[in-house]
Amino acid sequence: MKILVANLGSTSLKYRLFEFAVGQERMLARGGFERVTDYGAAIDQCLAELVRGGALQSEQELAAVGFKTIMARGINGCVRLDAAVLAAMEAFNEIAPAHNPPYVNGVRRFAQRMPQTPLVGLFETAFYQWAPEAAGRYAVPEAWYQAGVRRWGFHGASHKFVAERSAELLGRADVAERVRQLYVDGGRRAVAAPELRVVSCHLGGSSSVTGIRNGVAVGNSLGMSPQSGLPHNNRVGDLDAFALPYLMRTTGLGLAEAERLMCAESGLKGLSGLSNDIRDLVSQAASGHTGAQVALDVLVHQTRHWIGAYFLELNGVDAVVFTAGIGENQVGVRAAICRDLDRLGIQLDPEVNATVRAQEAVISPANAPVKVMVIPTNEELVVAREVRRYLEQAKR
Ligand code: AMP
Repeated sequence: MKILVANLGSTSLKYRLFEFAVGQERMLARGGFERVTDYGAAIDQCLAELVRGGALQSEQELAAVGFKTIMARGINGCVRLDAAVLAAMEAFNEIAPAHNPPYVNGVRRFAQRMPQTPLVGLFETAFYQWAPEAAGRYAVPEAWYQAGVRRWGFHGASHKFVAERSAELLGRADVAERVRQLYVDGGRRAVAAPELRVVSCHLGGSSSVTGIRNGVAVGNSLGMSPQSGLPHNNRVGDLDAFALPYLMRTTGLGLAEAERLMCAESGLKGLSGLSNDIRDLVSQAASGHTGAQVALDVLVHQTRHWIGAYFLELNGVDAVVFTAGIGENQVGVRAAICRDLDRLGIQLDPEVNATVRAQEAVISPANAPVKVMVIPTNEELVVAREVRRYLEQAKR
């Protein structure tokens, strides 16, 4: 069975093609296009590349196209992206302006282009369905909660990948299997003692921290929208709700402009006044740029804040995992996050840390109580696996 996973940005389309057979899964091809102005043409190009490269005989061979969809009103989990689901995604366009509109538009183009192929989305909120209720509530009136004002949590595919892979690497096949079956049985599968407690730090263009107990998330630093939690590349992260009305009343700032500033001119870009790319910030901070240093310091501070929250929630941790573009590659950011935590058992081996980029590795000293690990994420694989399961269940 061949499943294409498409990652849709406002002007980009990235893809990976997976093949599943009994007891086997492998990636056959990957690629992508930037500066996309016509999605239909990009889809044509993607399919043509796959056929030309021999990964597909023809597009009819695709069992489905999978998408790492973000959020939809009243819908969670892994679902067929029909007109009703797309409308439910559109209903949350204002909450996820950088994410939902490109997905809705892109999926519609896929539907026009490949009307016979199932289009299936795994929502980024799916991993948090079994977190404790208190972790998902804001202290707002009940009617607001009913309207969707709650902590949803995102980056579910990435943190789920880390939950499973870290369990495998830590010798906990039972917990890894529980993660694999999570969307079937809601994490009810029994696992052996002691508990496996992991904090997963997805640090990239978009960043979040998640606590994971025995493979099941206990919460995520992202709240109601993908603009919350840690500072992102150009999105704001957590902000006191009263800041916005204050600015609007006292400066005449309009709502649309405020939304634009929070979605495109804030985060690391806003803090540094320089760039949304961590590579620029690291090099400029080294040459004395104050804003770049402040941006790095805030990212580190906020990441430590959330690691601390889950350290307490989980009654300590067995592993802290770094993943995504920054987590996998930025040696200095990892070192700054783990600084002076030895009394909590969290330590880095500086020499090992300095050599690890985008590869699986333990970067703590061999005898440290907490394993600090780098695990390159594979969100597309998580999507493909769930889409496969969806197709197999739909057949029954
Ligand atoms: P992501 O959203 O996971 O692609 O992460 C994007 C962020 O990771 C950007 O701030 C990049 O500067 C950073 N990043 C990606 N690749 C590298 C790399 N090889 N070295 C350093 N930083 C990187």
